[in-house]
Amino acid sequence: MTIIDTRTPNPRSFIKGATGDWEIVIGMEVHAQVTSESKLFSGSSTEFGSPPNANVSFVDAAMPGMLPVINEECVRQAVRTGLGLKAQINKRSIFDRKNYFYPDLPQGYQISQFKDPIVGEGSVFLDMPEGRIEIGIERLHLEQDAGKSIHDQHPNMSFVDLNRSGVALMEIVSKPDLRNSDEAKAYLSKLRTILRYLGTCDGNMEQGSMRADINVSVRKPGGAFGTRCEIKNVNSIRFAGQAIEFEARRQIDILEDGGTVDQETRLYDPKTGETRSMRSKEEAHDYRYFPDPDLLPLEFDQAFIDALAQHLPELPDDKQARFITEYGVTPYDAMVLTLERETADYYESAVQFGGGRRDGKAVANLVTGDIAAYANSQGLSAFETHIKPGQIAGIVDLVAAGTISSKGAKDLLQIIIAEEPEGEPAEIVERRGMRQVTDLGAIEKVIDEIITANPGQVAAVKAKPTMLGWFVGQAMKASGGKANPQALNEILKRKLGLE
Ligand code: ADP
Ligand code: MG
Repeated sequence: MTIIDTRTPNPRSFIKGATGDWEIVIGMEVHAQVTSESKLFSGSSTEFGSPPNANVSFVDAAMPGMLPVINEECVRQAVRTGLGLKAQINKRSIFDRKNYFYPDLPQGYQISQFKDPIVGEGSVFLDMPEGRIEIGIERLHLEQDAGKSIHDQHPNMSFVDLNRSGVALMEIVSKPDLRNSDEAKAYLSKLRTILRYLGTCDGNMEQGSMRADINVSVRKPGGAFGTRCEIKNVNSIRFAGQAIEFEARRQIDILEDGGTVDQETRLYDPKTGETRSMRSKEEAHDYRYFPDPDLLPLEFDQAFIDALAQHLPELPDDKQARFITEYGVTPYDAMVLTLERETADYYESAVQFGGGRRDGKAVANLVTGDIAAYANSQGLSAFETHIKPGQIAGIVDLVAAGTISSKGAKDLLQIIIAEEPEGEPAEIVERRGMRQVTDLGAIEKVIDEIITANPGQVAAVKAKPTMLGWFVGQAMKASGGKANPQALNEILKRKLGLE
């Protein structure tokens, strides 16, 4: 593949070395397990966690004479994913055999797609602190997963579990457009978000349904691409970041010592935070790819693509843009709110609860602020907590009506979190006497007392108006925290002659 560098060097991603700045170049090959009931070429179940070898047909075990039959659902899922990546969909693609020997690969080859994949070039957009960047997708192809060898359950025996053998994977290959570990992590996270919106892969990295091979090289900023190493099977976003940082530093040290980087396949060890060599890099010709004679070329027409395109859900980028224009939230909040489809729905039902249409920013502040903090502490997403959209709506409405202050809203939320999970916001405010006092007539006397009792403070505030905060604090305390802060500010300014 000819590589075109579409990125302008960004000093934020430079790494210091003894000989000056270096830039990391990263490209990823992500294996995403297709969400489907059955395998790519057989009717066996794909269920996770079944007893070993429970989901194995003669095709998966590669019994002689068995013929693969393409699972149309997997094709639909690959096309839908291609559409979600704004990619070229190829109406004709070819299945090839990729030949290698491994005990958990009974066929002796993996059915994959080499020259003619089902999906061609596309893009993924990432929102980074310096703005939105576009990461090119090179291709997406369908292939079979292999089985699993189990070595550590018996001192001198190995076992093979073929449950995964033949399960459909999408290999999604990026261009080498990523430039630092933050971008790489954002890419994995965004890709997972897109796959989950589409429902084409559950994106569960711990269970292995999404794994990344990470290609890393280093170069002088903007210079020619360096030799890359491929770090295999990274199964968490955090590990991806750590592996890249370690690997880039290792390569820089080699180059600065006058050495050369060997193109090789490496493994990341989360225990040590290091990568180590696994084998020297194999080339495509080592696999003796050839078209699988058991399978016809995969062909479909435009109508097939159009029908799938029509039923795609709203994608994260579109939802994000709509949240910004429709609800007036910041791009950052829109990004956070749309990371998960369920969180986006949760947010929208709070904004529109009871047929209403409340301030989207106020709702966003609660959802991405105190609710997210609470959810995090429980290891949950906001939508998974007991806090209902109706309760969020209730809190926002009370603030909008001036019944409680924003501080009061925080207190009210804590009550719903810790004491009254089912509580109705307006009812809690009444019962607990949490209404803020806007009519300050009631505490004017107290304010006068504070002023007379503190002549020093009064003299000071004249010279330094920011001292007003001290008076607001005192008066707020005297009101039992219920005074409307804005009204309090005004009345104090007037009485202290600050206007
Ligand atoms: P192969 O199939 O042999 O692994 P590809 O050319 O298909 O090789 O590239 C595999 C991955 O490596 C792609 O994600 C690509 O973006 C990335 N890549 C290619 N060259 C570099 C490089 N110099 N540095 C980092 N990543 C690279
Ligand atoms: Mg590769």
